Amino acid sequence: MRTGKRIARQQIGRMLQLARRTMKEDAESAMSYAALARRISMSSRVPIPRFYRRQYCKACKRFFLPGVNSRVRLRQRREPHVVVTCGHCGKHMRFPTRLRRKKDVRSKD
Ligand SMILES: [Zn+2]
Repeated sequence: MRTGKRIARQQIGRMLQLARRTMKEDAESAMSYAALARRISMSSRVPIPRFYRRQYCKACKRFFLPGVNSRVRLRQRREPHVVVTCGHCGKHMRFPTRLRRKKDVRSKD
């Protein structure tokens, strides 16, 4: 185990913040910040924070920019959930909006 994890976590956080901040003005930079965060995450084995994890396409791993390359729809049928459609590969992802779940997957951090 190396102590580089803490630095990696900080870098990931910074990159994701930058991605969020720039996504409206500069989508391309935001995408590259997010891609960088993902690369740091993989090489350091530090997971992307749960809040951000849903912003990556599960299929093509691209960072979602709301209104740019993804479509977000709120559905109330059955359980309320959010459907995100990837603008690149067309993959749909569903996220329940209610946090109460039986199998609560608690993040490690
Ligand atoms: Zn995709």
